[in-house]
Amino acid sequence: MRLLLLLALLLAALPADALDLKGRSTQGGFLVGKTDPGNVVMLDGDSVPVGPAGNFVIGFGRDYKRVAEITVRSPNGTEQTLREPITPRTYDIQEITGVPQKYVTPPEEALARIAQDIQQVKVARSKMTPVAWFEGGFGWPVYGTITGVYGSQRVFNGEPRRPHFGIDIAAPEGTPVTAAADGIVTLAHEDMYYSGGTVIIDHGYGLNTTYLHLSRLAVSEGDIVRQGDPIGAVGATGRSTGPHLDVRLNWFQERLDFRLAAGEMFQRPQPLQ
Ligand SMILES: [Zn+2]
Repeated sequence: MRLLLLLALLLAALPADALDLKGRSTQGGFLVGKTDPGNVVMLDGDSVPVGPAGNFVIGFGRDYKRVAEITVRSPNGTEQTLREPITPRTYDIQEITGVPQKYVTPPEEALARIAQDIQQVKVARSKMTPVAWFEGGFGWPVYGTITGVYGSQRVFNGEPRRPHFGIDIAAPEGTPVTAAADGIVTLAHEDMYYSGGTVIIDHGYGLNTTYLHLSRLAVSEGDIVRQGDPIGAVGATGRSTGPHLDVRLNWFQERLDFRLAAGEMFQRPQPLQ
């Protein structure tokens, strides 16, 4: 009897439909959530942008901890916290010694330009558009050999560098690059210091993709694109050793793994002769 009473109290306090989550609870992954309109959602105590219909996305970075605390608070103050286990991953770490210093540190005169680039990218990735463009899924923007993966890190002369967050795909210069998913272009820059020709597409709820080292751009800021639309071409602009596309997935400023969203890369089927 007491058990039944306790159960009834629990059910009253935690409405079963207060939180619905789908996706991958892993480092580099993201969850797509839905709650009742008007509810506040928090991840580890920080508020998560929620659309007017109660939709939201939560992303987990490369080194995200083992458990995510996702809290939903209703307008009447009722609170529910879900402790979601996050699967950890291991990353490629490479030790490199004897690298000349000039390849490690940018020249003094480039610092102002680099700071400006970082600021522009940050603004483009801060947009909260409550449209679930990403729901149509993510496709590969170019087909080629994957030469760089998410999370890998080089240690130059004993000094750990920033981890690599993109997927590098080697392809001939000029190969068309297409939008990975539907969305709106929030940045189209011809020549950034590190990334050269750079495009950022907002796919809604903070999810965005970035395309680096482009030899030319085929879109402008504000353009609405569909998955598969051309947005530019493969190049080696910025600090790049050869023609390749570096494609990245982010949730606002958090870096996710594009490969988890796009799945395995299969070559386009060749037409029958
Ligand atoms: Zn890269």
